[in-house]
Amino acid sequence: MIATLKDFTSYALNLVFPPSCVHCGREGELLCHICVAESTTVQSNWCRKCAEPLTRAGTCTRCVAERSSLDRLYSSYMYDSPVGSAIKAFKFDDIRALGPVLAELFNIEAMRRSNAELAVPVPLHSSRSRARGYNQSEVLGRLLSRRLGIEFRDDVLVRVRDTTPQTGQPTAVARQRSLASVFEVRSGVTGSMTKNIARDIDGKRVLLVDDVFTTGSTVKSCAATLKSAGASWVGVVTLAVQPIGALK
Ligand SMILES: [Zn+2]
Ligand SMILES: [Zn+2]
Repeated sequence: MIATLKDFTSYALNLVFPPSCVHCGREGELLCHICVAESTTVQSNWCRKCAEPLTRAGTCTRCVAERSSLDRLYSSYMYDSPVGSAIKAFKFDDIRALGPVLAELFNIEAMRRSNAELAVPVPLHSSRSRARGYNQSEVLGRLLSRRLGIEFRDDVLVRVRDTTPQTGQPTAVARQRSLASVFEVRSGVTGSMTKNIARDIDGKRVLLVDDVFTTGSTVKSCAATLKSAGASWVGVVTLAVQPIGALK
C-alpha cells in the first residue's frame, strides 16, 4: 500500500515536474539514453585489476608486483563522461532518485560469471554517513545484489578511522598510507538475527561495491581486510573508473 502510494506520488510529481537529464538537461529522464550512449566505455584492453590501459587484456606489472588483494575489477564507464556527471549528482547533489538509474548501468552478465556470493558496500565513517544522510555505495550495492540475486551485507565491514576525503590526497602512495588499517571486519555477532560475521565471510566470494575506482587504494584496503577475515576471492564493482593519470 505504501509502495503504491509512493509510486503514485512520484508518478504525479513526474507529471507536474518532468525529470530532466542531469548532464544535458533534456526532459524525460534523469540520465537520458543519449548521454548514456555517448559515455565513454572502459576499453577491453585494460588491467583486469586496476583499469590501466594495456596493449592486450591481462594484469599490469604494478598489480602483479604489489600482489593486489583485489581479484577483479568490474566497471563499464569512464568517470570523465555523462555517466560520471550523474555519479557526481547522485553523490554530491543528493539526487537519490539516480540510484536505481545508475544501478541499471552495471554490466551484471560479467559479474554473474564470478559466482560471487555476497555484495558488500565500501563503508563510510559513521560521522560522514550521518552528515550526508546515506551512503551511496550502500544504495548501489543493495540494488546490485537484487539484480544478481545474491546476499547483501552492510554489516560486515566497518571504517574504524575517518580519513581525508580521497580527492584531497595528492598521490597514490599517500592515499595508501592514509588507508592502512582503516577498515575492519566486524567481530562477533550483530543485530537481532545474531549473525556470526566471521563465519559468514570465511571461504566466501565477495563483491565490493563502490561508485568510482580511482587509485583503488580504498577498495584494496577493504579487499585486504576481507581476505584476512577468510574471504576466498574479492572483486570490486564500480560504476566508473577515473584513471590515475587523469588526477595529475
Ligand atoms: Zn542527457
Ligand atoms: Zn593493474
